[in-house]
Amino acid sequence: MNTQKRSGMEEVVDMELHCVRCGTRLYIPMAQADAVLASLERCGAAILVCTCGQAQLIWWKRQQQR
Ligand SMILES: [Zn+2]
Repeated sequence: MNTQKRSGMEEVVDMELHCVRCGTRLYIPMAQADAVLASLERCGAAILVCTCGQAQLIWWKRQQQR
């Protein structure tokens, strides 16, 4: 996952996933990233909710490119 700065917007984390329902790329605000990452580290998974309301379970990717 990459931290990106999008112009005029708050800093977000790119989850490199797309919503299964609407296909929107999933980003989480940095404000929420800590909670999501903590859940990922603890449980190996976390729930993300898309802007369309679709909740998705995401899994920790062990092989990350930095
Ligand atoms: Zn969606």
